[in-house]
Amino acid sequence: MLKKLKLSHIANLCGGVLFGEDCVVSDVSTDSREDLSGKLFVALRGENFDGHAFVVNAMSQGAGGVVVDASFDSLVEPRVVVQDTLKAYQAIAQYLRLEFQGCVFGITGSNGKTSVKDWLAQSLSEFGSVLKTQSNYNNQIGVPQTLIQIENTHDYAVIEAGTSFPGEIEILSKTIQSDVVILTNASGSHLEGFGTTEAIAKEKGNLIAFSLPSSAIVLNFDDPFFDYWRNIAGSRRVFSFSLLDSRADIYTSNLVLGANASTCTVHFMGQASLVTVPSPGKHQIYNALAVMLAMMAAGVSFNDALAGISKAVVVPRRMEFGLTKNNVLLIDDCYNASPTSVEAGIDVLAMQDKPTKWLVLGALGELGDKEESIHRNLGRYAAEAGIDHVLAVGPVAGMAADEFEKAGKEGRVYATKESLARFLLTLNNEHAVLVKGSRSSKMDDIVNAIKI
Ligand code: ATP
Ligand code: MG
Repeated sequence: MLKKLKLSHIANLCGGVLFGEDCVVSDVSTDSREDLSGKLFVALRGENFDGHAFVVNAMSQGAGGVVVDASFDSLVEPRVVVQDTLKAYQAIAQYLRLEFQGCVFGITGSNGKTSVKDWLAQSLSEFGSVLKTQSNYNNQIGVPQTLIQIENTHDYAVIEAGTSFPGEIEILSKTIQSDVVILTNASGSHLEGFGTTEAIAKEKGNLIAFSLPSSAIVLNFDDPFFDYWRNIAGSRRVFSFSLLDSRADIYTSNLVLGANASTCTVHFMGQASLVTVPSPGKHQIYNALAVMLAMMAAGVSFNDALAGISKAVVVPRRMEFGLTKNNVLLIDDCYNASPTSVEAGIDVLAMQDKPTKWLVLGALGELGDKEESIHRNLGRYAAEAGIDHVLAVGPVAGMAADEFEKAGKEGRVYATKESLARFLLTLNNEHAVLVKGSRSSKMDDIVNAIKI
């Protein structure tokens, strides 16, 4: 934590009331299993847990104080009583972030947030000490949890912001107070919570709307919502990236997409340089351009930014290349799936130098009444991309297999992941398999069963 805080100060920040003697806390925690000595324990209420149940325990472990809500009926002291402990946690994080003099990057979008976050953090680490969102902790608890870890020794903080219902990004944006906002794209993921892609674009746009007035905004020029977001940016500086359009600030030419890497010439303000992007797929070119622009917005030179993206970053279970026990080329992209990311995965599968290509698909969740049309579109997309077989788990993904069959190819629906995994173990090194599906489909069960 950047600095020690007095409980009376914390009460002020959170609009709460301090009961008991004022003291200084050295850190903030929400986990009663941690060493809490001298720390502030914030009791969060979740769907499956309630931190208030651990407050007494936290104090007996040496916590310096606790933050609880008004319904907590114990007289533990010192305690700061607030209306909403999550809001209090966010307010503390926001305060600590605003005390931080380094550069804070906020990242949102429908796809590529974690990829950009990890790539940017890796690239920036050449220039200073970086704090980043761990794994995918991009929600209303994960964002403050990360920001509270900011230390004076950090130069950069790279924060991922996700959303599953309207209003979340506004809260996260106010907590993050980004110096540089990166908005990767808007597509039809989480349609169930939002209804339309327009509503998703509006939600993502709140990372811009509630960022610092002095912030720099990195936007996807090729996204249909580019103009909309640029308007939201108002007088903030906007930097745009495009795959091929020279009207954007950064774009590429001579693009050659390969099975494991791509090459292109990157253009930026009259400068141009040939670069190898060490991860396959068009989507990774977009991510690389976003990373470069964000670095340059933070003062890194064009050449240094290019050097940053030429080093690979592998995010587990996102397009992770490996082999199965029977030597099949395995592309493990089963961390999560949105329609756009399935297409990105299919593009990469189609580029592989193997005679037979298999898409193994679990259901995409949270699509509302677009569920059928989206799965059918994916079946068609796979057929047009030249995939040879679609193997689906269950009836929802099965609609993709059904549509794939209409294109005269083989689509199969499996009732269980076990039987599908058993079949995959009968293939050989002439085959490439992409495993993909939403988190709720837990397609990692298949990967775990077949991976070497
Ligand atoms: P989540 O909402 O689960 O946090 P995310 O936005 O963090 O997802 P990543 O984890 O970076 O996204 O990537 C998930 C998958 O999305 C990747 O494996 C890849 O298939 C695809 N993907 C990554 N970047 C892009 C992009 N810029 N455009 C489209 N698809 C992408
Ligand atoms: Mg993510």
